[in-house]
Amino acid sequence: MQGTVLMRLGDRSFAVAEIRHRLAHLGLLSRTNGDHDCVRAACDVFDETVDHAIRAFQQQRGLRTDGVVDAETFRALDEAKWRLGDRVLSYVPGHPLVGDDVAALQRRLCDMGFDCGRCDGIFGPLTEAALREFQRNVGLPADGTCGADTLRALQRLRRTVVGGRPYELRETLRLRHHPPTVAGKCVVLDPGHGGRDTGARTADLCEASLVDDIANRIEGRLLAVGAQPFRTRAAQHVLHPEDVPPSDGDRASFANAAEADVVVSLHIDGHHDPACNGFAVYYYGTARERSVVGERLAELVRAEVLERTDFLDCRTHPKTWELLRRTRMPAVRVECGYLTNPADAERLADPGVRDHIAEGIASALRRLYEDPGEPAAL
Ligand SMILES: [Zn+2]
Repeated sequence: MQGTVLMRLGDRSFAVAEIRHRLAHLGLLSRTNGDHDCVRAACDVFDETVDHAIRAFQQQRGLRTDGVVDAETFRALDEAKWRLGDRVLSYVPGHPLVGDDVAALQRRLCDMGFDCGRCDGIFGPLTEAALREFQRNVGLPADGTCGADTLRALQRLRRTVVGGRPYELRETLRLRHHPPTVAGKCVVLDPGHGGRDTGARTADLCEASLVDDIANRIEGRLLAVGAQPFRTRAAQHVLHPEDVPPSDGDRASFANAAEADVVVSLHIDGHHDPACNGFAVYYYGTARERSVVGERLAELVRAEVLERTDFLDCRTHPKTWELLRRTRMPAVRVECGYLTNPADAERLADPGVRDHIAEGIASALRRLYEDPGEPAAL
């Protein structure tokens, strides 16, 4: 289940006027509606046109398409306002610049064969190194800063033929160079929510406790085969109800600092429509690139869990959620059914079913290393 709702259909506030303005800037909302100027401060209503525009935006960006502005959608709207050339880009350790302009720069570098890792819109050290390399190649001072001269050089040299995707290739090769076993691998288990944030809930079940229990069951299995499981948050029973759980960005930083080999984030979905049900797995990806190992793990988790349970198959999907995007290693987010669906809630209340989910995920992790399959990007 997603985070706190900031704005949704029916709301009226100054912030809605700002959102309308951003959507109009992106061409998703017309500036006028008949002779009425929609983006003026008078238009501070989150109406159906805004709802549709938000959904279109979410779909474009690989976010949950629900028309609700939560922290994730708000962040994406904020990042989308930047066009390459709007500001000078450089690496700021600790506070990297994030935005569509950075992603555009990364894509151009990447298409010319300068490897900046993922084209994720985050100006990190790899982007800086690729930019310096590009500058050296075109005879500019290699200062790692994308200003006017570098922009001109980028525009001049923009190649129409798009080369390989160094990131996808490198990720696959890295997996193939691992010893073919999960033993010794650092696996970060990330049970979602926690503390005052219970996630999805019913009268007697809550997402945070259930995913905590599933994480425990996976942890035991991983220890038994010699892997090193780590958790992003303390167990639910030691979290005080007042505690603020870590953000998805914090969870990703934890996995990066731990130099994890792989991340499994555990959630249970919720929806206002009780008919929604099923098991889905998400990995990092956009229309242009994807984590090939993340996708493979997502497929393995889906296959292994559905073999052991009777959840509806809601398949695997690429997403750009913070946890998937900011982790520097393959990561999946597992949505183990819908707590708001009576049949799924009944399954999840059964410790035997939770054990099957855990067994399925642990088995998928074993297969990821023991049976890495053919490199998809070659
Ligand atoms: Zn959740």
